[in-house]
Amino acid sequence: MAKVIDGRSIAQRIREEVRKEVSILSRQGKVPGLAVILVGNNPASEVYVNMKSKACKEAGIHSITDRLSSDLSEQELLDKVRFYNESKQFHGLLVQLPLPAHINEQRIIEAMEPHKDVDCFHPYNVGRLMIGQPIFEPATPAGIVELLKQTGIDTRGKHVVVLGRSNIVGKPLSMMLVQKHKGANAIVTIVHTAASNLTKYTLQADILIAAMGKPEVVTGQMVKKDVVVIDVGVNRVPADNEKGYRLVGDVIFDEVIKKAKAITPVPGGVGPMTIALLLKNTVKAYWLQQVTGKK
Ligand code: NAP
Repeated sequence: MAKVIDGRSIAQRIREEVRKEVSILSRQGKVPGLAVILVGNNPASEVYVNMKSKACKEAGIHSITDRLSSDLSEQELLDKVRFYNESKQFHGLLVQLPLPAHINEQRIIEAMEPHKDVDCFHPYNVGRLMIGQPIFEPATPAGIVELLKQTGIDTRGKHVVVLGRSNIVGKPLSMMLVQKHKGANAIVTIVHTAASNLTKYTLQADILIAAMGKPEVVTGQMVKKDVVVIDVGVNRVPADNEKGYRLVGDVIFDEVIKKAKAITPVPGGVGPMTIALLLKNTVKAYWLQQVTGKK
């Protein structure tokens, strides 16, 4: 039977390390800060922002959530971003996506100070990630790499098949895993909706990373024996319970676990790592601004 990779406990260890580091800094009157801009009241964004705020609090990081009305103009949001770019109190800045349709997301991302861009969305940071010289690594892909590392799974020379090519998960993760250094050095295949036969690719995977956002697509028959599976997908499916839904991944867990060497559950796999790595990036942003002298 496969090892179930416990993202919660690995994330908890990282959060504890961050908390200790922040506590040492705080005793010297130096407190890392994270500003989160939330536009409108998208319920999923509310949940994510509240989780981030709670995690910051627990780690001793000073954080605010700047809640803005969904009818604010793009210019007003740009002004806000510039305000936080200049702030000495907030070392990390993130704008919760998605933004309302009348605001150009890319324009907002590009207005952010790259040294504060803890989500690693700014083209400067994406470019640095691509050439293997990152300042920040985006939280979800970094969380996945960390899960593999902490589980003792060596990616060197392994065939990693990534299902999904989003700018948030699939593409940056693939770029990170293909780099020629320790903890990466994998042979990476990126699969997307133009693939007519998913199984052709999934069967080749030594390590399969599913980031499609499609409920329970990957079956037991689609993977080879002893595969390592990281399920990034978080999908709501109707269920006969209080909430009326339950969360499932992109993988049929009960089937795939029978063939896998190791597998992440949903929930409790990748999700908790994303928050932990965001905290780490915020502390990194703090240090970066001490070293570069930038705000
Ligand atoms: P996204 O922007 O919707 O991208 C999905 C990607 O999967 C696209 O590249 C799409 O291909 C590909 N895809 C979709 N259906 C496919 C299929 N049947 N066969 C092959 N490829 C397919 O999603 P995302 O932001 O990357 O997120 C993916 C999932 O991860 C979601 O469930 C999301 O909630 C979850 N997520 C979880 C965390 C976490 O912390 N746990 C963080 C981020 C995301 P095309 O490009 O061709 O359309």
